[in-house]
Amino acid sequence: MASLSRALRVAATCPRRSRTRGLGLRALTGQAGPAAEKSVPYRRTLKDPQGPSTVARGPSQPLPSTAHVVVIGGGSLGCQTLYHLAKLGVSGAVLLERERLTSGTTWHTAGLLWQLRPSDVEVELLAHTRRVVSHDLEEETGLHTGWIQNGGLFIASNRQRLDEYKRLMSLGKAYGVESHVLSPAETKALYPLMNVDDLYGTLYVPHDGTMDPAGTCTALTRAAAARGAQVIENCPVTGIRVRTDDFGVRRVAAVETEHGSIQTPCVVNCAGVWASAVGRMAGVKVPLVAMHHAYVVTERIEGIQNMPNVRDHDASVYLRLQGDALSVGGYETNPIFWEEVSDKFAFGLFDLDWDVFTQHIEGAINRVPVLEKTGVKSTVCGPESFTPDHKPLMGEAPELRGFFLGCGFNSAGMMLGGGCGQELAHWIVHGRPEKDMYSYDIRRFHHLLTDHRRWIRERSHESYAKNYSVVFPHDEPLAGRNMRTDPLHEELLARGCVFQERQGWERPGWFTPKGTAPVLRYDYYGAYGNRMHEDHAYGRLLGDEYTFDFPPHHDVIKKECLACRGAAAVFNMSYFGKFYLVGLDARKAADWLFSADVSRPPGSTVYTCMLNHRGGTESDLTVSRLAPGPQASALTPAFEGDGYYLAVGGAVAQHNWSHISTVLQDQKFRCQLIDSSEDLGLISIQGPASRAILQEVLDADLSNEAFPFSTHRLVRAAGHLVRAMRLSFVGELGWELHVPKPACVPVYRAVMAAGTKHGLVNAGYRAIDSLSIEKGYRHWHADLRPDDSPLEAGLAFTCKLKSAVPFLGREALEKQRAEGLRRRLVCFTVDEKVPMFGLEAIWRNGQVVGHVRRADFGFAVDKTLAYGYIRDPSGQSVSLDFVKSGDYAVERMGVAHPARAHLKSPFDPDNKRVKGIY
Ligand SMILES: Cc1cc2nc3c(=O)[nH]c(=O)nc-3n(C[C@H](O)[C@H](O)[C@H](O)COP(=O)(O)OP(=O)(O)OC[C@H]3O[C@@H](n4cnc5c(N)ncnc54)[C@H](O)[C@@H]3O)c2cc1C
Repeated sequence: MASLSRALRVAATCPRRSRTRGLGLRALTGQAGPAAEKSVPYRRTLKDPQGPSTVARGPSQPLPSTAHVVVIGGGSLGCQTLYHLAKLGVSGAVLLERERLTSGTTWHTAGLLWQLRPSDVEVELLAHTRRVVSHDLEEETGLHTGWIQNGGLFIASNRQRLDEYKRLMSLGKAYGVESHVLSPAETKALYPLMNVDDLYGTLYVPHDGTMDPAGTCTALTRAAAARGAQVIENCPVTGIRVRTDDFGVRRVAAVETEHGSIQTPCVVNCAGVWASAVGRMAGVKVPLVAMHHAYVVTERIEGIQNMPNVRDHDASVYLRLQGDALSVGGYETNPIFWEEVSDKFAFGLFDLDWDVFTQHIEGAINRVPVLEKTGVKSTVCGPESFTPDHKPLMGEAPELRGFFLGCGFNSAGMMLGGGCGQELAHWIVHGRPEKDMYSYDIRRFHHLLTDHRRWIRERSHESYAKNYSVVFPHDEPLAGRNMRTDPLHEELLARGCVFQERQGWERPGWFTPKGTAPVLRYDYYGAYGNRMHEDHAYGRLLGDEYTFDFPPHHDVIKKECLACRGAAAVFNMSYFGKFYLVGLDARKAADWLFSADVSRPPGSTVYTCMLNHRGGTESDLTVSRLAPGPQASALTPAFEGDGYYLAVGGAVAQHNWSHISTVLQDQKFRCQLIDSSEDLGLISIQGPASRAILQEVLDADLSNEAFPFSTHRLVRAAGHLVRAMRLSFVGELGWELHVPKPACVPVYRAVMAAGTKHGLVNAGYRAIDSLSIEKGYRHWHADLRPDDSPLEAGLAFTCKLKSAVPFLGREALEKQRAEGLRRRLVCFTVDEKVPMFGLEAIWRNGQVVGHVRRADFGFAVDKTLAYGYIRDPSGQSVSLDFVKSGDYAVERMGVAHPARAHLKSPFDPDNKRVKGIY
């Protein structure tokens, strides 16, 4: 019998092929084929041991000729989606599985479910999965799913890690997830076989547990079938038929199989690592890569029974209780890519590569020393998909209406399956998910990236390698950088710009006074024979961000912010999305799409939201009404009818584009959406000195009378035609200059030359984050999301509810207003100088009433500011009196800090500064 320590020793000394043999493990079959002889859990419950190829036997049921929805893939995601579709009343949904249920990745999963992750939405998704497998399915079917609640234990070997766990604990309080931070001695008492000598502490979550894949999928499909759904195994999908409708929109028409076709308007691609191949059948890009992921199952360990599952993040290993043994798995920096992604891999496993796996053994033995003398019973190494940002791929594909994705689960497809299956079902049935699923929505990725091989591969590698890294609030990827740079990139780099990455764009984060910090080519953290960068200034600065305290450059960001408040700052926001909405129906479309009245006379600029039909906020943006120009240019396209210029955050530009396109298609408006993002730069000059500076650069009168707030016009800047807009996202007097690409550098230099004597500085998005929260401006996808209405978010002024004009989301807002708000976004200030980042629990009169969505330090008010939605625990609507009357505290890492609630922004509450009143 091989023991883990022997594996470690042998791996260190033997050439690769002989290592596995040297361990005395059973011989395995070839890399791409099924491992017929392997002894692994679940196998016997699912596989027909001697039978002929199941596919050769034909489909397990006759195919219907039509179906409302066809789900492709019978793994965790396919089964969960089918079940939730059936529960939402979709009659006759069909699941097609190429082989047998679970035969892809799901059958050999470790099945761990941890309830706490550093995302509020994910905590909700996990809670739903847990409810389904531990309660609902059993109640509905009478079948036990195999759920085991043995608890979960997260190990911290350093302070930052324990800080992260304390953050999770605070967030858990907002969701009723019980957790306890334990000392090393308490941990030892709970888990006597554990070495706690090198521990800082642990987080114990008693209601975590393990899912059984076979039991779960059987119960899910049984429950779905009872509600009229159909599961057809042994039926590979071979094609997706597409039709083009009268408006030129591509839509799903049918699913083709080896055994006939099913006409359907809706397909859900839950094909796991094969999802890219299924996407190709429909011309849909699915940006994921397949990688090997492994665990080994040990022989019996005396005294391990009933112990909680363990995640030792710092050692990058997990220890799952497997009856009276453990499964030991981990995430390495040199994972193996599965290049060929064979479609002949039912119930398949790979040979375990001990070269790769060995790195986990030392950590596992260190944590549970008895493992050193414990044998390895079997190895489980299977394919799993990883994505460029470590988040799943869900929602309707931008290339094809009716084609939904439910794939790319980054080794969390069991625990996220229930929550995601439910959201997918809502998406299909109601056109929107219930929760904020933006982070999972395939439409978050810019379309130029979704088939960019290097970007997908590098970023997905980093996802895998950092799977267990601490999630720091200001971390940035090192992979897939410099994909999209704007005309000012080199200019700003030379001035010390430290860039952030958003959807492939490089945007300024902050400016270091200590030289330049270019982002170098991705070195794969030294894996696969790559040389690690020895001198990487950017990497070093990023390392400074790996803290939950204020980073060392806190005071540098402070200087940028205070310069903006006291003199002026220039922000390069060229990565913004810049769209034109033009055409005969453009006005009708604008009235319907935008919550505010944007159809004011040409020359006006309006801050507005776009809503979904549930009144949730899909976007906030500025919309400028255009007058037709004498000739078409990057600054004014040729158009008939009406024209609008839309400026949206670059990170969410694709989401905006997709939202608008979908609405235009659904409403059949005759207008065009034109993307000019790459043709125009955007330079914003903000602060009390901005007028004096720009008056030297622009050929226009910038007085309040001649150029009022919320207006725009074409002017010349240093001789170049630009569109100037009087706007502010930081609460100061300021202008945005929308500049044709070739003119960006000369205009920027002219602004800098004029600004020097006025104290103008370069500033980045870290300053924008701080300045905007201080002023009380919302950030979409932080304190304003698709599950928040503008009324709840304090943005009622962006909604034309006093007019009679119908707009998308209006009915939902009217209903909400009539019924009263169940929650409200509130601003809190904390006098103690503690850093906060979001996810902290909000206490009111001794009860948790919500959690922080967004927090930052405000340098002018010299306080931490935090925004979060609060509820009344009694279930009543949240009145302004309720907000004003409570005693508040914000809990950060288990410590409650007294806080003050504000109904208006504490900085310049009367909005004088944007009007130029100083
Ligand atoms: C070793 C290991 C351990 C893991 N541990 C955990 C864990 O502890 N917790 C956790 O949450 N997650 C874990 N995961 C991840 C989790 O198991 C996966 O994310 C999940 O099983 C993926 O489910 P799926 O439905 O997306 O894919 P799959 O299970 O692969 O299902 C896809 C299905 O689609 C079918 N298919 C493909 N092409 C076609 C076609 N053309 N026509 C019809 N059918 C088709 C396939 O046959 C397959 O059955 C682990 C993964 C691995 C590899």
